[in-house]
Amino acid sequence: MTDSHLPRRDFLSAAAAGLAATAMVAEASQRPRVAAAPRADLPAPGEFPVKVISSDNGQPATQKAFELMSAGTSPVDAVVAGVALVEADPSDTSVGYGGLPNEEGVVELDAAVMDGPRHLAGAVAALRNIKHPAQVALQVMRLTDHVLLVGDAALRFARAMGFPEENLLTEKARKIWLHWKLHLSDQDDWLAPDQADVDPETAEFFRSHSVIRAVAATSRAEFQRPTGTIHCAALNAQGEMACTTTTSGLAFKIPGRVGDSPIIGAGLYVDNEIGSCGSTGRGEANLLNLSSFAAVELMRSGMPPRDAGMEICRRIAQHTRRPDLLDEQGRPNFDLKFYLLDKTGRHAGVSLYGPAKFAVTDAQGTRLEECAFLYEKREAK
Ligand code: ASP
Repeated sequence: MTDSHLPRRDFLSAAAAGLAATAMVAEASQRPRVAAAPRADLPAPGEFPVKVISSDNGQPATQKAFELMSAGTSPVDAVVAGVALVEADPSDTSVGYGGLPNEEGVVELDAAVMDGPRHLAGAVAALRNIKHPAQVALQVMRLTDHVLLVGDAALRFARAMGFPEENLLTEKARKIWLHWKLHLSDQDDWLAPDQADVDPETAEFFRSHSVIRAVAATSRAEFQRPTGTIHCAALNAQGEMACTTTTSGLAFKIPGRVGDSPIIGAGLYVDNEIGSCGSTGRGEANLLNLSSFAAVELMRSGMPPRDAGMEICRRIAQHTRRPDLLDEQGRPNFDLKFYLLDKTGRHAGVSLYGPAKFAVTDAQGTRLEECAFLYEKREAK
């Protein structure tokens, strides 16, 4: 409604309120900003322990990001360059090129980046045909006033930024999708995998591939939806932090489904004064619990990264109520992992189900470390 639609009395009081608000803003902008007292537990700038952590598929990424930061690259550029190695790797069916497609056989990617020092973020969701969605997310952050672009408009933005378009569906990912499609139901028009007249190479692939064995479970509860993603977080010697999460999302999702990875606070979050958290696994659970933001808030209240991650796992377990998401013992029948790094350089990987690992690069080198976990993994049937 414009002011001309307001009755005169309302208009006057609205105008008065507007003036008061303007005065308050003006006063706030003139108020000297009180510098926070330096934290006694933090090293001096230049002396923070340089560190990069990621999901277990990210050792090349943590190593690359560490090397780049050591040569002076900012943490946000370093983590995006690090995960680019995994985005481009066709053997990783969870990220970028080679990622498993949606239910129509089309690869749709989600990614976000967050820069601690400037507290800025950029993200893209349901992006098709672009191999490096984290780089597009970085451009959203750097070049626009927005945080999140989605779908076809995100693709048009990427094109305009000069990103090349390519088919991201590898033959391997297509065959895994085809098997899923054939196996899915006996009430549709697709023949079952053992009845379809596929070529011998595809038949052999169907028999031997481990992802297919996992997908070919007999009941909905046993159905292991392949998930995977890379999250990567970094701290440089100046105490600057950044993180990124990039993924092809849940395999065989409904087209347009957006997971947690591009949602700031769900799939990743960093507060440069506190720390960072990011996640892989069932994104819907992170969306419902804003898990990464919540974990950083727990660290703000003084919890070490491991305890904060465990508390989030407990909270997710408590909040999981839908019977089809619970096993016979009432535990979530999906997995989630968190990667936490605090401003002092303490780190942790935490998983709903363990044993599980995550990747770390620091002055001691690159390695996988064990995650803390809430539940012991069930024996594979
Ligand atoms: N979190 C991702 C999503 O839900 C998937 C994954 O990490 O595997 O889209």
